[in-house]
Amino acid sequence: MTAASPAPSPAPSGRQHAPVADAPSGRQHAPVADAPPREVDTIVVGAGIAGIAAAARLRRSGVTDVLVVERADDVGGTWRDNVYPGVACDIPAHLYSYSFRPNPGWSRRFAPGSEIQEYLRSVVRDEGLTPQLLLGTDVIDMAWDDDAERWRLSTSRGGLVCRVLILAAGRLSEPVIPQLPGRESFVGPVMHSSAWMPGSDFAGARVGVVGTGASAVQLVPRLAEQGAEVTVFQRSAPWVVPRADAPIPSSARAAFASDPAAMQAHRESLFREFEAGHAARVADGPERESLRQLALSHLAAQVSDEALRARLTPDYEIGCKRVLLSDDWYPAIASGAVALEPSAIVALEGGRAVAASGARHEVDALVFATGFAATRPPFADRVRGRGGRLLADHWAEGMTAYASILMAGFPNLMVLDGPNAALGHNSAFAMIEAQAELAATLVTRMRAEGADVIEASPLAEQTWTAELDAASRGTVWLSGCRSWYVDDRSNRLTLLWPGNATAFRAALGAVGEQPLPLPSPVPASALQS
Ligand code: NAP
Repeated sequence: MTAASPAPSPAPSGRQHAPVADAPSGRQHAPVADAPPREVDTIVVGAGIAGIAAAARLRRSGVTDVLVVERADDVGGTWRDNVYPGVACDIPAHLYSYSFRPNPGWSRRFAPGSEIQEYLRSVVRDEGLTPQLLLGTDVIDMAWDDDAERWRLSTSRGGLVCRVLILAAGRLSEPVIPQLPGRESFVGPVMHSSAWMPGSDFAGARVGVVGTGASAVQLVPRLAEQGAEVTVFQRSAPWVVPRADAPIPSSARAAFASDPAAMQAHRESLFREFEAGHAARVADGPERESLRQLALSHLAAQVSDEALRARLTPDYEIGCKRVLLSDDWYPAIASGAVALEPSAIVALEGGRAVAASGARHEVDALVFATGFAATRPPFADRVRGRGGRLLADHWAEGMTAYASILMAGFPNLMVLDGPNAALGHNSAFAMIEAQAELAATLVTRMRAEGADVIEASPLAEQTWTAELDAASRGTVWLSGCRSWYVDDRSNRLTLLWPGNATAFRAALGAVGEQPLPLPSPVPASALQS
């Protein structure tokens, strides 16, 4: 084993990566601790998919007095950070990309992570956003100044002031690792899937992988292929359907390059195909049954051992958590190359990992594919609105917003990828673009109409939230599994939008057309798919 030594601790996300070519990094700026704060119209925090979308949409609307502040030294967010073996997207690349920057050159139906990261860098360059980037700059605190009607930011590079603050800090940016008794007794390498140490080589090593989510099912077969002896700690079995990945032939790529309309038609057809998957989530009808049968027959086809199949069969409703796509997860386990521990990891005893079943597994290294702080984003502890109220306190009972992006008491603040803005069945780009579009619309309308401040009223936010709570009732996401879609304190569906992507776009579009300052909630009918 030549894994990095000494044992890496789970690092904050990817700060060691190479910057976008010619992007101004925070490191190139003189220390500004005592300098007067730099003032711009709009600050976007985060240069991942959402931050790039917001900055691009603003620029395309003529708003260029924008700074994109990013703590890492490169753009890309989750695709910059996640470099574990096998990382890829499980939404087809032609759908998992910006509608305004189609890419005819995708190499495969499901793009590898590195290709998505290159794509995001190219979008930043091609949209002319590079001069707006302030990389390597950690935003420490964001406070609304009521008198000046400005947001004041303190950062690792000094102060910033802006009129509008767009928070695009990501929902998969803060890794979570369970606190385990005896952690200090384990001296081998430990890493989170999103903080993979490039160059780690686990060939011949006994590696415990904790978790069976989207990251683990991609990572585990690759680790086994590389010669690691993997033990997977499975707290709950995932539902898995066929992936059917394939290269996109060069002839098809050339055809897309020469015929943008054909590429657009392909994207739209993929969108409709994935959008249809929503029906299986809202009611236990024929669509859910056929999804269930697809997954069960996939399992039966790939795992012949009955006892193993039983351990790999989920005990909760399909769709309650993200349905995973994999053609090599079951074969890796069925072949014996990967040992399955059918319970959680609960403690460490030196080089042994203790499972809830009581079993003890000798391990040389541990990989936590245990997900992210998504429903309780740590950035909420850094945002103070009217009267100094913390966003984390506003969200004490779970995240809420009006139109997914605006919170009462937090003027001129827009959160992207925040409350009820995710999907389980379709591309995140569809949701992110709808939010970025609304943010850009509101910023340009504020300028055009002379509105200094926009803010959701408490009634608007409460009504919107009540509508969503009602729409969430009876859906599969609240059918009783433990998932990161649901806030664990309030048991409300706070991460996912309960409708489909089309309804989200329509609902946010309707908000963008309301007179400023935004008065009342959109009608309930707008929330229905
Ligand atoms: P995740 O879906 O939150 O999964 C975390 C896993 O860790 C779950 O299986 C969870 O078990 C398990 N876990 C937590 N504590 C444990 C313990 N003490 N012992 C054993 N297991 C434990 O995290 P993720 O896989 O990183 O995926 C997060 C999200 O990233 C996905 O939902 C997806 O949106 C995105 N993602 C997407 C792709 C893609 O291809 N598009 C790829 C990777 C990730 P329980 O299920 O029992 O809670």
